[in-house]
Amino acid sequence: MNTQRSEQLYKEALELFPAGVNSPVRAFRSVGGQPLFFERGEGSKVWDADGNQYIDLCSSWGPLISGHAHPDIVAAVKEAAEKGISFGAPCAYEVELGKLLVENIPFIDKVRFVNSGTEAVMSALRLARGATGRDKIIKFNGCYHGHADHLLVKAGSGLATFGQADSAGVPADFAKNTLVAELNDLGQVEALFKANENEVAAVIIEPVPANNGLLLQTKEYLHGLKALCKQYGALLILDEVISGFRLCFGGACAHFDIEPDIVTYGKIIGGGTPVGAYGASKELMGHIAPDGPVYQAGTLSGNPLAMAAGAAQLRLCKAPDFYEGMATKTAAFADEINGFFSEKGFPMKMVHIDSIFWLSIGSTTPPTSANEIDAKAVSAYAELHRSLLEQGIYAAPSGYEVGFVSAAHSEADMQKITEAFKVGTERMVNASLLEKQ
Ligand SMILES: *Cc1c(COP(=O)(O)O)cnc(C)c1O
Repeated sequence: MNTQRSEQLYKEALELFPAGVNSPVRAFRSVGGQPLFFERGEGSKVWDADGNQYIDLCSSWGPLISGHAHPDIVAAVKEAAEKGISFGAPCAYEVELGKLLVENIPFIDKVRFVNSGTEAVMSALRLARGATGRDKIIKFNGCYHGHADHLLVKAGSGLATFGQADSAGVPADFAKNTLVAELNDLGQVEALFKANENEVAAVIIEPVPANNGLLLQTKEYLHGLKALCKQYGALLILDEVISGFRLCFGGACAHFDIEPDIVTYGKIIGGGTPVGAYGASKELMGHIAPDGPVYQAGTLSGNPLAMAAGAAQLRLCKAPDFYEGMATKTAAFADEINGFFSEKGFPMKMVHIDSIFWLSIGSTTPPTSANEIDAKAVSAYAELHRSLLEQGIYAAPSGYEVGFVSAAHSEADMQKITEAFKVGTERMVNASLLEKQ
């Protein structure tokens, strides 16, 4: 594989950006080797700067549910761009995208658009704090909610202790307002509520935790969280930045039949452009400026290009049967691979929900909380990643990241991916000390 041009660009990028990248995982640190620079994408495929073609399973980390450069989205962006790239004033595209949400998501009366998932979550938490007059929040180990200060926090030394900053630069004063529990354990959440009575503004969770492996939770657990929130006067924030419009149009909320107090979106909602959103009841959204005292603003929020792309994407998602094919393709792939693993005695499981999948390495039982993941086993993923690249498959450059199947992945693509995973996992098992079961 010739990657000369990528290597040259990376060399230049290293002089310009920390680790040569504008978001850490792109640096390939956990899989070794050098990042590829991409030049073009179409449907399920991407081409790097040297012209190598790959079937893409990273899907820009989730947004590209219709594949790369879908003609409807490209046309919408072109049309919007020709009419003006930004106004900093209201535009019709906002109303169009807003209606797609309010008319289709039952618990959203009003929504506010922002520019990223991080911003959506940050704003949702400010709203929860502003509406309840409380400062503390509860989050879960293994859930990612973007890089806002009070969310880069890990569990302290014991249950019911204050959180500790998970990044340099996060003031301890911020971290102490973030309480951290393990997933799939309502008892821990209840204990935190009891130890912090009348102090917890919100519980925030990814209803389908998909940023640290795929840690599937049960419907009962999520409904249990909602009941605890109600009991202790806190709000439930479901962070649907990945799962929204991914599991189905109504996301995990529809899938698990649960209504949060506040929902956050990102990724798919922008059709590949930078969009985030948070939505809630009329009453809660009434706290947002200028209607209410919770300030939140954005120079480029509701940008016409981004709104047009998002609306085009969500219209595609609304089409009948849009989701069915993706879930079927993903399940067939996972079943075939899991059959292969049991035949070979490989200690692995392809975990999946709808069009999201993740390879659990080191255990055939899918983990349901972050502390059940065997970090040493996951490090073997580097070998699989290399093998997939050589076979023309671009998977996320970390064993903790999930893969995404899109509407653009054909049966032939899925076949190729399945065979490549068989070859790659075999190579990974042979190269590592993973014990066969
Ligand atoms: C990606 C992600 C975020 C952060 O979104 P950005 O657009 O990267 O800021 C927040 N929450 C979840 C669940 C995510 O997957």
